[in-house]
Amino acid sequence: MSYARFGEFSDVYIWGDGEYLFCDLCKLNDRRVQRFASRREMLEHLFQHRRIGHLIPDFAIERLEYEIDQYGDDYAATAKQSSADYGRQILANLEEMIGDSA
Ligand SMILES: [Zn+2]
Repeated sequence: MSYARFGEFSDVYIWGDGEYLFCDLCKLNDRRVQRFASRREMLEHLFQHRRIGHLIPDFAIERLEYEIDQYGDDYAATAKQSSADYGRQILANLEEMIGDSA
């Protein structure tokens, strides 16, 4: 599940596999992957990218901050729950949009 993908507004590809969070092809790490078990460490890593001018989408930062607030720092312990909640949230938003336009 990805937090941010490479693109016009993003110099990072951030994703998690349920055990670790990854910064893939990391420009701070010679294009090698960086791996974190801690959401705070990933957040700090994203701020490091920003400090040297890399583009990091706000939603990636906001989502990590939200998850730290809701689930705590330990990604592996709460990854399943947080991604299930996130999926439900997206679905609820879609249903609301469809309901509004009907
Ligand atoms: Zn990185």
